[in-house]
Amino acid sequence: MEPLVENIIIYSLAAVLCLVVVIVYLRKQKRDSKKVEEKIVKAKLDGMYEPVSLHPVVDPNSCIRTGACIAACPEHDILGVKDGKAVTINASKCIGHGACFHACPTEAISLCIGTEKRGVELPHVNQNFETNVDGIFIAGELGGMGLIKNAVEQGKQAVDNIIKSFKKGHQAEYDLIIIGAGPAGISAGLQAKKHNLNFLIVEQDSLGGTVFTFPRQKIVMTAPMDLPLYGKVKLFETNKQTLLELWNAALDKNSITIKENSKVEAITPENGQFKLDFLKGDSLTTKTVLLAIGRRGTPRKLGVQGEVQEKVAYRLLEPEDIQGKDIMVVGGGDSAIESALLLADNNTVTLSYRNEVFNRLKPKNSEKINEAIATGKINVLFNSSPTNITKDAVYLSTNVPGEELNVKNDLIYIFAGGELPTQFLQKAGVQITKKFGDAILKHEK
Ligand SMILES: Cc1cc2nc3c(=O)[nH]c(=O)nc-3n(C[C@H](O)[C@H](O)[C@H](O)COP(=O)(O)OP(=O)(O)OC[C@H]3O[C@@H](n4cnc5c(N)ncnc54)[C@H](O)[C@@H]3O)c2cc1C
Repeated sequence: MEPLVENIIIYSLAAVLCLVVVIVYLRKQKRDSKKVEEKIVKAKLDGMYEPVSLHPVVDPNSCIRTGACIAACPEHDILGVKDGKAVTINASKCIGHGACFHACPTEAISLCIGTEKRGVELPHVNQNFETNVDGIFIAGELGGMGLIKNAVEQGKQAVDNIIKSFKKGHQAEYDLIIIGAGPAGISAGLQAKKHNLNFLIVEQDSLGGTVFTFPRQKIVMTAPMDLPLYGKVKLFETNKQTLLELWNAALDKNSITIKENSKVEAITPENGQFKLDFLKGDSLTTKTVLLAIGRRGTPRKLGVQGEVQEKVAYRLLEPEDIQGKDIMVVGGGDSAIESALLLADNNTVTLSYRNEVFNRLKPKNSEKINEAIATGKINVLFNSSPTNITKDAVYLSTNVPGEELNVKNDLIYIFAGGELPTQFLQKAGVQITKKFGDAILKHEK
């Protein structure tokens, strides 16, 4: 064969091979993009697409689709690659690990809070963790940055700054009262002990904070946390029980007790110190306050007879452990519907809702609850409100004057919304601003 013809054949074969590779690559990219597009459609239907707090924002001009962000994220399907660029899918499931931010080789990701459409309210805090009110400090998720390890770090640093801020001459009962016994409050308490402060930790529920109030066992920590008076904790993947035992052990070892079931209702500045009023009616005075109250707020109570009983709860913790019970769920929002659906598999569930129809539900929840009503899986009492909770029943009023319903009952879950921490902060004089997509973590370019 002529060398020229031979060369033409070789080059043509190489060109065809390259073309095949490119076509296969492009078709795979198209298939993958389609899958991500479908996930986005589903996320929108489930109400998970629009971020509610911290979330990654990808700069499409810098993204070169390495996929490093997806591989690094400990959660699932928060990011995906569509048309050659990383995009968010279930942005509202992001809890702010920041692993995507660090993994991206082209620094195309920032971690932002709020969106143009949906702002997020954040209190003013300076670099010393102090608010605009002298003597009131903030640590943990309330300041905008989520995660256990960040809360622990901030709790410790805030106490160091609080010590520096002490002024002589005030005769308060405490040097410092830490409000909230989540990771930020626990760490702050240990640091306060290390410095021999006269301090107290108060908590509206019980030790642990937000992470213990969600029906999810797995806890991921992308970096070790350094707990004061305890040392480095290298638990990368753990569960609620292990973490709780660890915190209890650290507190016990240092003889720190927490004033539990003590909700602070108001903080009032008084003669250069603060008076804290508790829901139960008592009050305490302190030189400084550390707010480690997170961002979830306080569940709203119904204020009906019999509400103070062990069988009444405002959060569903371990649904899989509850079986064979007569349960009432109160409320018509997504949390109520999701809890009722989870419980209905192994229990007899009645849902009481004060309005005539559900509105503003996530489309998926709306579909599921309508199906559960149609198949009789859940008994829904519209236009009803509990009036009295007894040991084995719930009494309800309806929109028919004089009518009273009586439903057999072992457990009652109330989802009547919550009091946001912002109201509590504003009452104490702490300034709040709305953030519309501001970057909390970004690369300096
Ligand atoms: C579903 C879910 C899963 C998560 N998973 C992880 C994970 O795997 N890894 C991770 O690192 N992070 C995770 N997080 C984030 C983590 O839980 C939070 O960032 C962290 O708990 C914040 O700690 P904190 O101490 O600032 O506040 P919180 O943990 O929210 O604690 C605040 C405490 O203050 C109390 N409080 C509030 N108001 C008052 C008041 N007025 N009086 C008295 N007490 C009050 C509350 O009852 C609460 O116990 C998750 C969050 C959620 C929602």
